[in-house]
Amino acid sequence: MAQDMDGDRQCFECEHVYSVLGTPPAVCPNCGSRAVPPVGTLTVLETRQQERKETVVRRALTGEVTVLEVVLADETDRLLVFYVTGIDRNEPRITVARYDDVRFSVTDEMWTREAVPDAAIDAAEDELGTIVGVGDRAD
Ligand SMILES: [Zn+2]
Repeated sequence: MAQDMDGDRQCFECEHVYSVLGTPPAVCPNCGSRAVPPVGTLTVLETRQQERKETVVRRALTGEVTVLEVVLADETDRLLVFYVTGIDRNEPRITVARYDDVRFSVTDEMWTREAVPDAAIDAAEDELGTIVGVGDRAD
């Protein structure tokens, strides 16, 4: 649970759960991290596809892969970047996120589909013209 309608949020770094009431909106009150769920409405700033050197060693592939970056800002002007991989094999999935300067693997357990903003998924799907998954699980 990273966020819900009651306003509770969970820090992606220390997993502390807190209420948005009475706390600075985009900072974890426990550890001070800015790696907390988005605040307010998200704005899509940019979607960009890039050819990247393959860095995923476990796939034992070399060469260029296409990575789609979706860059959003929340109402505190914090940058949230989501990286879509698997485009070249027609299995696009959001597998990495960067909130401010903190980078995450979206394959970690706490990253459910609900933890990824709909705005990010929608922008990726619009750009690629196909369904985009989250993490490395079937959903
Ligand atoms: Zn924290």
